[in-house]
Amino acid sequence: MKKIYLDNAATTPIRREVIDEMVTVMQSEYGNPSSTHSIGRSAKAIIETSRKTIAKYLHCNAQEIVFTSSATEATNWILRSAVKDFGVTRIITSKVEHHATLYTILALQQEFGVQVAYVNVDCDGVLDYNKLTELLSEDCKTVVSLMHVNNETGVINDIHRIGVLCHQHKALFHCDTVQSIGKTELDLQVLPIDFLVASAHKFHGPKGVGFAFVRKSLVLQPMIFGGEQEKGWRAGTESVHQIAGMAKALELSYVHLTEERNCITELKAYCLYQLQSFFPDVIVNGKDTFYNILNVLLPFSTEKTAMILFNLDMKGIAVSRGSACQSGSIKPSHVLAEMLQEKDLAKPSLRISFSHYNTKEEIDYFVETLKEL
Ligand code: PLP
Repeated sequence: MKKIYLDNAATTPIRREVIDEMVTVMQSEYGNPSSTHSIGRSAKAIIETSRKTIAKYLHCNAQEIVFTSSATEATNWILRSAVKDFGVTRIITSKVEHHATLYTILALQQEFGVQVAYVNVDCDGVLDYNKLTELLSEDCKTVVSLMHVNNETGVINDIHRIGVLCHQHKALFHCDTVQSIGKTELDLQVLPIDFLVASAHKFHGPKGVGFAFVRKSLVLQPMIFGGEQEKGWRAGTESVHQIAGMAKALELSYVHLTEERNCITELKAYCLYQLQSFFPDVIVNGKDTFYNILNVLLPFSTEKTAMILFNLDMKGIAVSRGSACQSGSIKPSHVLAEMLQEKDLAKPSLRISFSHYNTKEEIDYFVETLKEL
């Protein structure tokens, strides 16, 4: 059976060149990067070159990049350290953030009694910037945690505007750029972001590796204790091949950005056009969404809704109803719950997320299959 992968916001296939790079590193760079002999130093050099590559594409200093196992780990570390070590007493966020952020904040609220303020989004998923300004004008040591591109709807936050507001009010800004990094330009010389988190598997790199950007002037405390790796901020022997693979994947994403963005933009427009032709009542969730995510509300009956993912899967089609951890679950998405009315939440919303590996033929097959359900 044909397999059609339209779930690229959950994870992406690894590029061939990235696999080749990782295999080479695994075969020849087996040294422990902390060893002082030449085999260890050579592995260390791979890590530092990878750090420089990532920094080059984000226009920051290599020393500001810290490798982690995932974006989830990076977010846990940064928010926890902000509360424990920077004396942050309030976190401003929104209810449409990824659970990596939301559950970390809940844990910090329980453990440290930190205040949490939520900025609402409207029915299009657009953030209430006036409310954010109002909250920021209260005098209290704050970290703002808001994502760039929403992983379920593709709604884009204006992170430049958020960063400027944060700095005007002396608040720190933590930004989850997991869905946008490698898919759009991010210039940290210009963006007033203090902390950024990213994950390699979202940009055609390996799973189990990510990084944090921590602006030079900010000194965090470690979450994981042990060796001196990553300036002692993140102990544990580095996964050299994964770090090398991540750097290669980010580099290739930026080298091919223009062509791949054009290709994906066209695929998304084509998919929406086909869906609208066959289901005139289809509604797009979210306004002005990112070019690789299309979240649609389908005018289907309750019976069809319950089995939709299963039925598509039986035909070899991978899409999602929300974030990966919720796919298959019939719980309504916490993101759409903030945007849609009760009656629409019961209908099937599908997240279709594209990569440059998809084709128009795959979209035709997907839409045909939906028609036949
Ligand atoms: N933030 C967003 C927006 C995501 O989409 C994801 C992954 O689903 C994460 C954070 C978590 O990333 P990781 O898989 O590296 O823990």
